[in-house]
Amino acid sequence: MTKEREFDVIIVGGGPGGYVAAIRCAQLGLNTACIDNFVGKDGKSSLGGTCLNVGCIPSKALLESSEHYAQVSGGLESHGIKISGVKIDVSAMIQRKDDIVSRLTGGIAGLFKANKITSIHGHGKLLDGKRIEVSSTSDPESKEIISAESIILAAGSSSIDIPCALVDGKTIVDSTGALDFDKAPKKLGVIGAGVIGLELGSVWQRLGSEVVLLEAQDEFLPVADQKVAREAKRLFSKQGLDIRLGARVTGTEKKGRKVIVEYEDKSGTQTLELDKLIVAVGRKPNTDNLFAPEAELLLDERGFIEVDSFWQTNIPGVYAIGDLIRGPMLAHKASEEGVAVAEVISGEEPELNYDVIPSVIYTHPEIAWTGQTEQHLKRAGEKIKVGSFPFAASGRAQALGETDGMVKIISHQETDQILGVHIIGPQASELIAEAVLAMEYSASTEDLALTIHAHPTLSEAIHEAALAVDKRALHIPN
Ligand code: FAD
Ligand code: NAD
Repeated sequence: MTKEREFDVIIVGGGPGGYVAAIRCAQLGLNTACIDNFVGKDGKSSLGGTCLNVGCIPSKALLESSEHYAQVSGGLESHGIKISGVKIDVSAMIQRKDDIVSRLTGGIAGLFKANKITSIHGHGKLLDGKRIEVSSTSDPESKEIISAESIILAAGSSSIDIPCALVDGKTIVDSTGALDFDKAPKKLGVIGAGVIGLELGSVWQRLGSEVVLLEAQDEFLPVADQKVAREAKRLFSKQGLDIRLGARVTGTEKKGRKVIVEYEDKSGTQTLELDKLIVAVGRKPNTDNLFAPEAELLLDERGFIEVDSFWQTNIPGVYAIGDLIRGPMLAHKASEEGVAVAEVISGEEPELNYDVIPSVIYTHPEIAWTGQTEQHLKRAGEKIKVGSFPFAASGRAQALGETDGMVKIISHQETDQILGVHIIGPQASELIAEAVLAMEYSASTEDLALTIHAHPTLSEAIHEAALAVDKRALHIPN
């Protein structure tokens, strides 16, 4: 009998949580193995998880390409640039997206090699006694058992299915299917006006689809600051996204190549005939078949793996990170947890500040925020001060022709410590980094006000919003 392979650390899942944890473990001198079961479009193993293969990266590639198309098809006229005869080649756009994915996922494989991480393609299942059963993705009967002192579960998440709109991969798709349409569907429905609905809805709307978003809740983007959410809804509706709130889908029926969607709203039962339907109603942790019953791993009431403040599960030496555990389902959150757990395993006591994780929605304009929203702080009875600055008053935004949106900063009325920064506007995804850094250092709006920002830049809007908190913005009346 061959001896079980043993490692210092085994990581199950090679997404931004797992692969980053593996790299950090290897940097810290631990003999590390990472098991991942993802199979790419070419039928081969592909590291990087949801984020690199079917999430952050491919969606951003299509958002960039479709935004270029929107710009050249009329979006540059205010600059005096008129372009006629613009054509799109959706298959070339999809191929570009796939090439970016291959380059980046191949890059992770290279990093694993450089860091001497043992990469195992297969499905990992936690057994008792810190052992993992690895089965082949092509032949589930072919199995190996490996063991380690420490195990990190980083198996990520998958789209939630709803029985009234079951994904068939053709007419009704999840986010993965929506990254691979061969042409812009004439009429496209999206169930869920959350982050995925807005991003992928925007991609296909820019490429020519008539897009209807059916959102069950009455409030638009309740996770965002409501001033920003209201502005976003106004701008997205102006772009042509048909956002229907309080719309609960009750059934779907296939009719030839089309799908009929039935939904209820406050006026009663409605129907829509669509060419494609995207289901984007949230994601669930991948805990199915991740652990054997005898492992006795504890989940919380929502099905996430329960962890303590050092990401340790109820089993000593077994950790969990990323989309498998509580907190926002974001790649950067998963990666930072991966680094932190590697350091915990090496005997360090890392800290991770969950209060200032940035959130970004990559629409046009982008939405980005960190910290608390005004509605949350008011509900909590906090005494706050608020300052906003519109991009319409920014010289750089005027030069860009991107004047929609604003920066809003909330600080504590007495201490002036920044409690939340909310941006809708050009490059919001990049601008938010300044706010995250400021909040990480417990800065006040006075600190931002005292910081010299280059002129003319979009970041001046952050400076002005900080000044506006004390009614001393320079380029708007206070
Ligand atoms: P994952 O990335 O899901 O990786 C888990 C890996 O483990 C996968 O490869 C999976 O196949 C594998 N696996 C699962 N079970 C097993 C098992 N038993 N054995 C072996 N392997 C297993 N986040 C952002 O921050 N920014 C964005 O712009 C963004 N865009 C997104 C766009 C879309 C369309 C989607 C769907 C998600 C997006 N996200 C974004 C969310 C982001 O992808 C996730 O939060 C992130 O990937 C979570 O990382 P993870 O490592 O926890 O899990
Ligand atoms: P989400 O939670 O952002 O949005 C889902 C929306 O669907 C919600 O507004 C919800 O009210 C609605 N909904 C739920 N059930 C419904 C139903 N039956 N009918 C109509 N509406 C319904 O989830 P998502 O958009 O699927 O994204 C999943 C996760 O992926 C998010 O948590 C997000 O963090 C992550 N993600 C992040 C990014 C980013 O960082 N830019 C991009 C994409 C995805």
